[in-house]
Amino acid sequence: MAKNVSKAKSYRKGKVFFELILSLAIAGTCGYFIKGAVDKSKLVEPSNFIDNTDLEEAKLEADKADPTKTVFEDISVSNQEVFKGDLILVNEDHQYFSGNEDLIGIAAMNERNNVEGFSVVDYDYTILRNVYDPMVQMLTAFYKQYDNDTVQVYGSYRTTEYQQQLYEEDLAMTGEEDSTRVAKPGFSEHETGYAFDLTETVTGDYQGTGDYAWINENCYKYGFIERYKEDKTDLTKIQPEPWHFRYVGKPHAYYMMKNNLCLEEYISTLSQFVYGEHHLEFTDDEGKGYEIYYIPADMGADSTNVPVPAGKKYDISGNNIDGFIVTLYKNGEDYIQAGEEEEAPTAPSGYTAGGDTAEGEDADTQEENAEETAEAPEENAENAENAESTEEIPAD
Ligand SMILES: [Zn+2]
Repeated sequence: MAKNVSKAKSYRKGKVFFELILSLAIAGTCGYFIKGAVDKSKLVEPSNFIDNTDLEEAKLEADKADPTKTVFEDISVSNQEVFKGDLILVNEDHQYFSGNEDLIGIAAMNERNNVEGFSVVDYDYTILRNVYDPMVQMLTAFYKQYDNDTVQVYGSYRTTEYQQQLYEEDLAMTGEEDSTRVAKPGFSEHETGYAFDLTETVTGDYQGTGDYAWINENCYKYGFIERYKEDKTDLTKIQPEPWHFRYVGKPHAYYMMKNNLCLEEYISTLSQFVYGEHHLEFTDDEGKGYEIYYIPADMGADSTNVPVPAGKKYDISGNNIDGFIVTLYKNGEDYIQAGEEEEAPTAPSGYTAGGDTAEGEDADTQEENAEETAEAPEENAENAENAESTEEIPAD
């Protein structure tokens, strides 16, 4: 039995050994063919080639969907900013209460910059710093065009106290309970520093006609709108005032002018262009592109996450109601990089924005101006009172 068992074992061992050899042989052969196949595939690379094509196509598709390949990132903006910026809507329904305006003296700046071509009814009249340059560019362009230096800034920034005084005076004069000529204190664009009134020294009655029509027709090129037009009085609740100009910025002034929208209509229109849905996109007469969208303020928090394109130029303005408006600048399909400055439109020779003083001096100048303007409001009121006795005051 033992022998048989041993034989059987021996046989089994022999079988196992044979099977092992066979397995190795098969594996070796397979390995050879597999290696051959791998070598061949390396030479021809059929599968890799196809994969790369797919990737390229996918990439091209993605590029078509977003040619700018711009990444949008959220920045946190305080909800206080809803009430600040070039696009704030201030009217009888929307009070202005921002305060801390960055004002400069118009006449003082004109003197320092040797600006000629228009006058200011009162030396102490002030306006927002970022509105001064476009205003001067517009009025000096008019002066050079018509050799007409009769334009005069007749009203600009007003304190709420001064607005109160004008309002009461108007009620006393008309005997009415309400005024369509003078905005209630707290509800006038003049309190924002974004607006100014013009008169002309020939008749003292600026109507935006004759030579002056140029200003009303071209103000949008400088970022201004004629704020109270005759066909919009039902929306603005203010009489037609061809003399009252409001700064909103060039893209917005352009769009409003081309589409005959007053600021009430424009702000309402923009609220439909919510970020991530449909943005407002257009190109102006100079071929400059803009993309504009709206972000409702997160009223449950102190701040709102506002998406902006990383590394690109953008402006954010509150609408003074319920959210933010973001403006992006484009050149063709591409967003303009942050820090790229726009050229001023038809900058008149002999005038350079910011003057030709050295930078150090300029800083001093601005400080001095700030001091000057700090005292301005009361004098402003007094002098405007004097002016009122001789001319009819346009006092929205
Ligand atoms: Zn006005």
